[in-house]
Amino acid sequence: MPQAPHVSCGRCGVTAGASAPPTWMCAVEKDGRHYFCENCARAHIRAVESRLDVASW
Ligand SMILES: [Zn+2]
Repeated sequence: MPQAPHVSCGRCGVTAGASAPPTWMCAVEKDGRHYFCENCARAHIRAVESRLDVASW
């Protein structure tokens, strides 16, 4: 699967162009790098905090 030339939200799928806006969150997990839009980042952070298996913070 080729790398997409744009950043897209790993949760809702919205695309953001060639790079993630500063309001987006980048999460590095076992299966690669994931970006989340501003809205999804909030929900994702809660999920991460409950899992505590992400080492990037
Ligand atoms: Zn999203």
